[in-house]
Amino acid sequence: MKSPNFYASGGVDRAAHLRSDDAWVADQLGSRDARIVPIWRTRNLIRPGSTPEGVVLESSRGLLMGADTVVFLGLLDDIPHFAADFSGYEEPPLVEHGQFRDMRGVGQLLPHQEGALLVYARAAIQWHARHRFCGACGSPTEIREAGHMRQCTNPDCNAQFFPRLDPAVIMVVHDGGDRILLGRQRNWPPGQHSVLAGFVESGESLEDAVAREVFEEAGVRITDIHYHSSQPWPFPSSIMLGFTARAVDSNLNVNREELEDAAWFTRDQLLNSPENEVFRLPRRDSISRRLIEGWMRGED
Ligand SMILES: [Zn+2]
Repeated sequence: MKSPNFYASGGVDRAAHLRSDDAWVADQLGSRDARIVPIWRTRNLIRPGSTPEGVVLESSRGLLMGADTVVFLGLLDDIPHFAADFSGYEEPPLVEHGQFRDMRGVGQLLPHQEGALLVYARAAIQWHARHRFCGACGSPTEIREAGHMRQCTNPDCNAQFFPRLDPAVIMVVHDGGDRILLGRQRNWPPGQHSVLAGFVESGESLEDAVAREVFEEAGVRITDIHYHSSQPWPFPSSIMLGFTARAVDSNLNVNREELEDAAWFTRDQLLNSPENEVFRLPRRDSISRRLIEGWMRGED
């Protein structure tokens, strides 16, 4: 079995049966046994240093008085963990514990389990921030199920909303030989390249989406589409579904609306990649990097 991708399999027991037990949830929040993962405006609290650490705080009434939304994440080593949103503060609070940082920058520097817990907390809080009103009637919604559901407050509507994910496919396309297809978008850091990716549309299978995206972006027809692995990518709410595929032929017709460039790269080029402003591989916590390194190792 492959080792899990970064942000996956973080060891949290989601204990869904406890979400609807309001008394248990309130008891836990009132006790010092529970742990709080603070969020401020989509950022996580990080203790800086040569090895940055995610900050998880003991629960207390004083702390929770400043929180807008609290979500039960689950049990980690039998200890209840909650995400709490402190976005109501104009200036970042809790600065005595660390700095609020964007996980898109700092996530790859954290230990695996900590990274997984922190992005889960970030995603759980951000979902609430974006679903304050009912999509059916426009009335305010209220938190339910310890933060795993919202319900419309209009008694004639009562619509329920559950956190949703946006499925995206991401694929390493090889030419049947020694080359893979990488592209880059204009707004990426200088030199950064990645395998191609895109969102799945309604009415498509995952394989349909893989084939469509590669043809739309690079003009390449592909075959032998196989699932590789997946990765939570809650920036804000994606699940990345990784695939491998083989190009039917290697002629490129790059869509310059979507990509600045795309090209074939040999194994040697990647092994000797300079990691500079001309060429660099994707960030280490991404499934894109994992798919490329897997292909270089000859992984299935
Ligand atoms: Zn409604």
